[in-house]
Amino acid sequence: MQLQLLTYLDAITKKEEMEPAGVLYFSILEPIIQSDKKMTEEEIEDKIRKNFKMEGLVLADVKVVKMMDKSLDKGYSDMIPVYVGKDDEISKKLSSTATKEQFKLLQKYIIKVIKDISKEILSGKIDIKPYYKNKKTPCEYCKYKSICQFDKNKFNNEYNYVPKLKNEDIWEKLGGISWE
Ligand code: SF4
Repeated sequence: MQLQLLTYLDAITKKEEMEPAGVLYFSILEPIIQSDKKMTEEEIEDKIRKNFKMEGLVLADVKVVKMMDKSLDKGYSDMIPVYVGKDDEISKKLSSTATKEQFKLLQKYIIKVIKDISKEILSGKIDIKPYYKNKKTPCEYCKYKSICQFDKNKFNNEYNYVPKLKNEDIWEKLGGISWE
């Protein structure tokens, strides 16, 4: 689902010979703050900042995490998807993190996906196959619907059903891939 972001990560880390510290993104939509009471400017700023909290994956290294969010000591970061426990450990359950090895695996997987897609396109396979995840599809807000005419009930059209997986299941699946 985040092929573009991970492709950029792979390209830049290889070009600059760097190690990934994370892949993060946030919504650029201007947030609208709602409240049933009068708020101070600080409270409004705080809410806005929380709206810009980034999503993605961060390297599971507390030193790196604290360099990314310098205001973080313990608990949830307001900036990145990480929770630091009382012994300065990153909570796997409450955070979205990956180890150095997992980032390498993810990068290897992205290259495989790009190659597979390229081969399919070159062989003429260009079916319209939007994703369907958590009962959502990109077609709901797509401007090109009238052109592409995707309709689940016509021409054997089918969604690309994306299962909801926990992080540990994703790593297990990636670990089980044959790279030949
Ligand atoms: S409407 Fe068509 S182009 Fe738009 S997301 Fe759906 S399948 Fe893709």
